[in-house]
Amino acid sequence: FGDQTRLRQILMNLLSNAIKFTDAGEVVISVEAVSFKDKSQILFKIKDTGLGITKEQQDKIFGSFTQADGSTTRRFGGTGLGLTICKQLVELMDGEIGIESEIKKGSTFWFKIILEKGTGNVHAFSPNHEFNKLKTLIVDDNNTNRAILEYQLKNWDIEYESAHDAFDALDKYQKALESKKPFNLLLVDYMMPGMNGLEMIEDIKSDVKQNNPLIIMLSSAMTEGVREKAKKAGANRYLNKPVRQSYLYDSILELVHNKRKSIKPDSKRQPKKSAGSSRAELKALSEMKLLVAEDNSINQKVIIGLLKKLGYQAQMTNNGAEAYEELQKNHYDIVLMDCQMPEMDGFTATREIRKLNSTKSQIPIIAMTANAMEGDRDKCIDSGMDDYLPKPLSIKGLKTILEKHLSVRKYIKGPKKCEIINI
Ligand code: ADP
Repeated sequence: FGDQTRLRQILMNLLSNAIKFTDAGEVVISVEAVSFKDKSQILFKIKDTGLGITKEQQDKIFGSFTQADGSTTRRFGGTGLGLTICKQLVELMDGEIGIESEIKKGSTFWFKIILEKGTGNVHAFSPNHEFNKLKTLIVDDNNTNRAILEYQLKNWDIEYESAHDAFDALDKYQKALESKKPFNLLLVDYMMPGMNGLEMIEDIKSDVKQNNPLIIMLSSAMTEGVREKAKKAGANRYLNKPVRQSYLYDSILELVHNKRKSIKPDSKRQPKKSAGSSRAELKALSEMKLLVAEDNSINQKVIIGLLKKLGYQAQMTNNGAEAYEELQKNHYDIVLMDCQMPEMDGFTATREIRKLNSTKSQIPIIAMTANAMEGDRDKCIDSGMDDYLPKPLSIKGLKTILEKHLSVRKYIKGPKKCEIINI
């Protein structure tokens, strides 16, 4: 339990300073907790690789109207009050704040506060049973990025090893192959010195003895060009960094599922033509009517923007109750449903829609959920939704799911519960 507004204020202050005073390198925030009986001490660290602050200045920096040097104001502006406010807020929470810094190397601002333990459920990404068949190689030249990926995989019980560049990775990959315990998932950074991720994948794929590992490529500059090349080289997914935990989790799970499906005996038949691939099909899809239920006005704008880009027209409603009413008044082909909404949430609205005494009860409903975890997925499906999209929405995710469900509707006329057409 804590004062989240003040905590956010402190973090925002320290983070914006860190970014402001760092020209190159990185800003990393880390959190550690030490648990006592009914309380926890939480230690936040905001580390940057920026200007740094001299020992002398460090002693004064938390005082009012203090700036490290006069030129700071000219170059960066500011009031010299931010840190004073942080110190006061931290002390009001019975905490402590401090700094470690070296000039031109960077600074670490830290603060610790003691908070009472909450009683609610903790949403954690539970390991999936599919994950224990994975042996993963993380390839990234940046220590922080590797540490973050390692931390996440560890929490999901995924076996992993790390490589600090493409050469190191190729070496480890080869050795694992020879020892008959090959890596079957590679998380590969794109930009690396010496040999980039793309070249590394090409190298692996050119070896006849390779074991066709699943490959996820990560980049902070994933342009269409790179994406295309990565696809050609044999990557299965391309994710923009920083990758949200839920997104990485879902991507890995999806790849594992797809791989399993693709090695089923009946998958030898020719895959059906990709839905919506021809111009005529795209046109047909754009004529479909979408109903969206979302209470957050910013999210509403984002969704409408993405749908517009994809050529879809949509009717927006502000909650489940409005969506339920709108659906009864007008014809729609699909519903995009936020889960948490005031008045009537997405789960209830879906249950109500499924009870309707008309063909409208069969409309495909796609959940949009920020908590893309196993439990939430089950909750969506249990309430009668057909599929789910993790938030933040990506244009690709949206496109794929809409084409999947709308093309099913197009090919199979009428309100039957449909088989999924392979896309
Ligand atoms: P402001 O940023 O508005 O000037 P603050 O109290 O937040 O006021 O910061 C006071 C001064 O401390 C800054 O002007 C800057 O000189 C120094 N400072 C704060 N954070 C950093 C940082 N991360 N790296 C280097 N200098 C910093």
